Amino acid sequence: MKGILSVILPAYNENKNIEKSYTAIDQILSSHHIAHELVYINDGSTDSTWNEICKLSKRKKEHSQVMGICFSRNFGKEAAIMAGLAYASGTVCAVMDCDLQHPPEKLVEMYQLWQQGYKVVEGVKRNRGRENVIYKTGAKIFYHLMTFATKMDMSRASDFKLLDKQVVNSILSMPERNQFFRASSSWVGYKKTEIEFDVREREFGQSKWSKWSLIKYALKNIAAFSTFPLQLITVAGMITLLGAIILTIQTLFRYYSGTALEGFTTVILLLLIISSIVMVSIGILGYYIAKIYEEVKQRPVYIISDII
Ligand code: UDP
Ligand code: MG
Repeated sequence: MKGILSVILPAYNENKNIEKSYTAIDQILSSHHIAHELVYINDGSTDSTWNEICKLSKRKKEHSQVMGICFSRNFGKEAAIMAGLAYASGTVCAVMDCDLQHPPEKLVEMYQLWQQGYKVVEGVKRNRGRENVIYKTGAKIFYHLMTFATKMDMSRASDFKLLDKQVVNSILSMPERNQFFRASSSWVGYKKTEIEFDVREREFGQSKWSKWSLIKYALKNIAAFSTFPLQLITVAGMITLLGAIILTIQTLFRYYSGTALEGFTTVILLLLIISSIVMVSIGILGYYIAKIYEEVKQRPVYIISDII
């Protein structure tokens, strides 16, 4: 089985990495005689990323093409991946970061696995590259939560994946706006295998994630893929109900035995505990309602201003 491989590369302020990633990927794939297309998505970069992509698109080579998609503003990596999948013309698509943290050599192995009949080849991280302690712990907590909430192992998952066109179409046919590529590519099913890779150091520029944006990202994806927090409210409700029953019995007992008096501390504590549980619960409900609101608006996930 032979087919054109579309490599999808989201790029946000990566001007130094465009040319570099192109050279590395093109060289490896050409040397293995894999016909390929590179789809760069400029996710509203403020530097010369788009210029670099335009320069590349002018290069004409046999069995190798470059496509560029330019967003009208920054829509985020998930949106960029979706756009890449929608516009890729290959019979098989690979998604990878353009900072070369995902090793391009692995593309060949992934492609060979696809030839053997696998429809989804997932890249899993053997190590996490160099990250600071806070980041590492944060990521750990997030992935534990994710794994628990979605019932899919997320701890080593990455966005480095190869998908058959059929799988791509299944993902694209999911109507929700809030996509979480890592999870949806495994949710759709199909014959799947994994391949381990070592995360490399980023050579140019820096990671686009601030701590706050990571927290937002984590919450968003948990809400997008799980309703567990909503069930948590019910659990909290049950526990307080149990407490309420016990306290009611105690209060009534005291009342009838004539020892009812004082007890202000209990009142204050109860008020604080129950009201905070109620508030948090309303907050969780509000978050989900906000997400439903976003979906209902049916806004496009991204807006393209230019294609080359
Ligand atoms: N990226 C993007 N849009 C964004 C943020 C990041 O397209 O809003 C791209 C970025 O250019 C890179 C990939 O997503 O190709 C991964 O980003 P980064 O290296 O910053 O993340 P990290 O490797 O630190 O998780
Ligand atoms: Mg990176």
